Amino acid sequence: MADIEMKNIVKKYGDGFPAVNDVTLDVQDGEFMILVGPSGCGKSTLLRMIVGLEDITSGEMKIGGKVVNTIAPRQRNLSMVFQNYALYPHLTVFENIAFPLRLAKKPDDEVRRRVNETAELLELTEHLERKPANLSGGQRQRVAMGRAIVRQADAFLFDEPLSNLDAKLRGQMRAEISRLQRRLGVTTVYVTHDQTEAMTLGDRVAVLRKGVLQQVGSPRELYEEPSNLFVAGFIGSPSMNFLPATIEKAADGTHLDTPLGRFPMPEKGHAAASGDRSVVLVGVRPEHFEDATLVSDEKRARGAVVRAHVDVTEWLGNELYAYVPYEAPADLADKLRDLSRELDSDQMRTQAVVALDPASLITEGQQA
Ligand code: ATP
Repeated sequence: MADIEMKNIVKKYGDGFPAVNDVTLDVQDGEFMILVGPSGCGKSTLLRMIVGLEDITSGEMKIGGKVVNTIAPRQRNLSMVFQNYALYPHLTVFENIAFPLRLAKKPDDEVRRRVNETAELLELTEHLERKPANLSGGQRQRVAMGRAIVRQADAFLFDEPLSNLDAKLRGQMRAEISRLQRRLGVTTVYVTHDQTEAMTLGDRVAVLRKGVLQQVGSPRELYEEPSNLFVAGFIGSPSMNFLPATIEKAADGTHLDTPLGRFPMPEKGHAAASGDRSVVLVGVRPEHFEDATLVSDEKRARGAVVRAHVDVTEWLGNELYAYVPYEAPADLADKLRDLSRELDSDQMRTQAVVALDPASLITEGQQA
């Protein structure tokens, strides 16, 4: 096994804008690291540079303490699982899994033993004589993983391996990959744009945007302590609401005046409150709203009660989403639009999404 050290890694295709821009990131020995970000942020390019399928324009890539910039993919002893599985259709499951061992010219009895052990681990034993065309999507995915783990590589690299599966199977495979990685304890780098995979699979998550690393941390750190607006808006589903607000200092304390109403300034926000009146964006996670009619008097007194018109509701069984449009004052609306452009997102819309208890009494068209 090995750690992976990336130092000031840059990738430029032609004279264009760098696809990966000065990324410094260490993946520790045995760690499960997720690379996440919107389409085109450079996550696949970074993964391909680790494996050696893409040249590094500048910077240093080390695997197990050894600089690998100019080392061919085969010599890096890494295993990669691709989105499309890349199985050989004419070979049986046994031979697909055995492929890297055959390439390495391992003796037949060793190939048999290792393929059988791997098939056992992935519950593929009864399918070993089948061809990939006769397998389900999930089974094919397991064969691709079998081929990656059979050769005892120093690290596993996954490029969106579950994106071709339906939602239910994706959930099952996610749990399987997590179990397998823990059991084998192999350094793993996993590329995804899927929120749930990013938050549930990794020890740490690295968020990329336009080739630039935004934050690296545990899923919890990213969720609770995002280091910038992009990470705050990107991590979490539904996304965090950003409300334009002014900070008002009054005799009864500091408040945030938002289009949804007046909130007391949270403890951590005080540092931002300079001067008597300043304009800020307030981030509120959808689940931090509650239906005021369902909470105790004491709890209601501690929070801020807002009255807003509920436009649309969506009942999901375990949660109820309520969409609350609001009017922002012109100067604040401009600020929101600028930010929206800067972040390439439509998160700065003038509506808030509120995630409530499904037992909530709120209905569409209601003043909540
Ligand atoms: P996705 O989730 O859509 O696969 P990604 O985050 O993996 O996106 P990359 O595939 O790494 O992004 O691409 C990063 C940037 O580099 C994109 O702007 C892409 O258009 C560009 N790019 C990728 N491969 C090449 C190439 N071979 N030649 C030129 N530009 C490329």
